[in-house]
Amino acid sequence: VNSEKKQMLEAHELLQKFYHHLLVNTKEGQNALEYLVDRGFTLDSIEKFQIGYSLPSWDFVVKLLQKRGFSLSLMEKAGLIIQKENSDSYFDRFRNRIMFPIQNSKGETIAFAGRSIEKEDQPKYLNSPETELFNKSNVLYNFFRAKSFIKKQQQAILFEGFADVISADKAELYNGIATMGTSLTEQHVQLIRRMTDTIIICYDSDFAGTEAAYRAANMLTDHHCQIRIARMPEGFDPDEYIKKYGSEKFRQEIIAGSLTFMAFKMEYHRLGKKLQNEGEKLRYIEKIIEEITNLDKAVERDHYLRQLADEFSISLDALKQQQQQMYYAKK
Ligand code: ATP
Ligand code: MN
Ligand code: MN
Ligand code: MN
Repeated sequence: VNSEKKQMLEAHELLQKFYHHLLVNTKEGQNALEYLVDRGFTLDSIEKFQIGYSLPSWDFVVKLLQKRGFSLSLMEKAGLIIQKENSDSYFDRFRNRIMFPIQNSKGETIAFAGRSIEKEDQPKYLNSPETELFNKSNVLYNFFRAKSFIKKQQQAILFEGFADVISADKAELYNGIATMGTSLTEQHVQLIRRMTDTIIICYDSDFAGTEAAYRAANMLTDHHCQIRIARMPEGFDPDEYIKKYGSEKFRQEIIAGSLTFMAFKMEYHRLGKKLQNEGEKLRYIEKIIEEITNLDKAVERDHYLRQLADEFSISLDALKQQQQQMYYAKK
């Protein structure tokens, strides 16, 4: 490691400790701590994930880093402070936020995400910028803790965000990782693929999460992964679900009951469609037959065709005939 990188890492470690100390031991952090506890974060989780709090100050971090002998221009490159325009003075990037340290695969802290406490403080999450240490397209939150569990259990659970991973951990699911809101990249897939090829996608059950799950599922399937997709009641994310229904139900119903990609597609393609409408229904059926036709295994094709036949009271023969037509039309 060159010495600039080493100093950036040291600064992250120092700030992680400071932010954490402010949250758990000081009066200044009390409000933030209450917010977290109200949301259901336990002190154990706060400790384990080294969650912290940044003061609503413009220069607390600048002064601290300076006092400890760090070069401020280097600290700006590390994304921890920001240089004022046309000036050689600096101010703190993260102010009055809940701080989530982000680690690389080795467990070194390389970035932070700061969550606002007040609704009107936007954006909700403020991340470190891309730096020499941090490139969000190749970092998965919690990967360094989860990787041995992923390998042992031969399964990873892929979430959207910090709170989801932390709630899952509380539910004794230690193989959770998160993309932190960005779409899944090739590098992310490579990282997971080193440990397992089996992934449960557990994104939020809102429109954005459903679309993202569909894209991630396609991408992982292209990389020969075995995937399942966990679905929650409309509008819930995993963290909210666990807080409302408990760990047991999350594991038994949401994770154990996760869908195959095909079953998910059957749900996905009917979103926003009115299947009472004859035309829409027929188009939906055609779309699903097309998807079924793309399946590799004959047994699977048969299984889903029967399901479709049952649901819409169509003869299996008719479905098979249509499938044959599509199959030859494609050739
Ligand atoms: P919370 O539970 O704290 O409200 P969340 O994880 O449910 O947050 P989502 O809106 O579902 O938040 O977004 C998922 C993830 O996307 C977040 O955990 C965060 O990593 C990332 N994210 C969300 N909003 C932003 C933003 N404005 N800028 C950068 N990243 C964001
Ligand atoms: Mn979301
Ligand atoms: Mn969410
Ligand atoms: Mn959430």
